[in-house]
Amino acid sequence: MTTSPFVTATSPVINPVTTQQIGEVGSASVEETDAAIARAQEAFGPWRDVAPGERARLLRAFAAVVDLHNEELARIEVANAGHTIGNARWEAGNVRDCLNYYSAAPERLFGKQIPVPGGVDLTFHEPLGVVGIIVPWNFPMPIAAWGFAPALAAGNTVVLKPAEVTPLTAIRLGELALEAGLPEGVFTVVPGKGSVVGERFVTHPAVRKVCFTGSTAVGKQIMKGCADQVKRVTLELGGKSANIVFADTDVAAAAASAPYAVFDNAGQDCCARSRILVQRSAYDEFVGRLEESVKALKVVDPALDESEMGPMVSAAQRDSVQRYIDGAHVAFTGSRPDGDGYWLPPTVVESTSTDEAVWREEVFGPVVAVMPFEDEDEAISLANDTEYGLSGSIFTENLGRALRVARGVESGNLSVNSHSAVRYWTPFGGFKQSGLGRELGPDAPNAFTEEKNVFIAH
Ligand code: NAP
Ligand code: MG
Repeated sequence: MTTSPFVTATSPVINPVTTQQIGEVGSASVEETDAAIARAQEAFGPWRDVAPGERARLLRAFAAVVDLHNEELARIEVANAGHTIGNARWEAGNVRDCLNYYSAAPERLFGKQIPVPGGVDLTFHEPLGVVGIIVPWNFPMPIAAWGFAPALAAGNTVVLKPAEVTPLTAIRLGELALEAGLPEGVFTVVPGKGSVVGERFVTHPAVRKVCFTGSTAVGKQIMKGCADQVKRVTLELGGKSANIVFADTDVAAAAASAPYAVFDNAGQDCCARSRILVQRSAYDEFVGRLEESVKALKVVDPALDESEMGPMVSAAQRDSVQRYIDGAHVAFTGSRPDGDGYWLPPTVVESTSTDEAVWREEVFGPVVAVMPFEDEDEAISLANDTEYGLSGSIFTENLGRALRVARGVESGNLSVNSHSAVRYWTPFGGFKQSGLGRELGPDAPNAFTEEKNVFIAH
């Protein structure tokens, strides 16, 4: 089993289907983290100075090596995180795609030439230096790549801390980067605890930016810590997104797609549409059809090609979700396999009050709360009655309404008549307490640079 070459302590890694230990990986100390940051700092100057076309070539080589190892990476994620094999293959492919997309950035980090009297004015996008990326356990590969691909493309070096429970694919990606020819120290995976390694990224002065994805509570702590050094920070936090179904839509189609928008990755998804708002005249039909589609969901061993939902990532996460289920009025559930794994069935709750915990809080498991609404205004106000604002969907055949509601919902990523997943070439991020800053899309490399203005007198 993989262990990091430079750390001494270890922590166990568990398979959530078997609940058995599948390995041990390094858990870095503060001193070991400092050593990794020092190497990244040393590697920064030479990496910044690599010719743009050569940096691009190295990122494409990294993408090609990741692609060659797609099945291996996917199988590791199935064993470590319980992701379905179909999802895990997509996730490894997403790492490749992010690297390829941002490999086009080094030659295109354009500045501006701005008209000024008495000289020439130029802007440059200078890399920041060492970037620290802190990754949660729910999408270990994509979330890592959304940070490291544009950061490396813009000329930064990266230290990356995977979640303690799901470090294996990140460690493998670190090895593949070296295999592809990235110089030592340019991309270093530092496994360990958030309170040790993650905290050190925040306090170490050589780390110039922290990209954090995880809970809102820890995100707030990180933002406070970064304030001390006015350290740049990007936060991708929780969500409580609404799937808004108007009666004028194809109700059968909306009910057939709704389970995938919340139960994908067993609901452990910050974009999960975990509240479904249904216009009252279509409510009974929708809930009836939803029951059919939830009961048909294939909750089976995630290693099987047909699997549509696996277990929770850990016993702690299962227990935390179970507490929400125990406190709610469950309308119906889908199935779950027998056995020891951290399984929960997909669960549908009919909420009667917006005060219910299951309606307000990010459950981060396979639980969805459904509630009726009367009209467009009520739909928007219910959707916005949350501290979060990450994602959401709107189902209607009325184009004007689709646009009014899309503009009215305070959320960073909305889809109409679909539940589109995150695309690497469009911007992603949250309103309100769902985050700060944006990842992905054409502008992501700029978020890993400082804009410098230079005036040259004639
Ligand atoms: P978390 O505590 O926010 O962890 C996210 C990452 O931050 C992990 O790598 C974690 O390290 C690290 N971390 C923890 N404390 C830190 C600190 N003080 N300084 C720096 N880094 C630190 O999330 P969680 O405990 O895994 O999950 C709890 C809840 O957060 C979930 O139930 C869900 O509601 C939410 N969540 C949201 C997302 C999202 O995509 N928005 C992702 C995951 C979780 P460790 O490995 O030590 O934990
Ligand atoms: Mg935590």
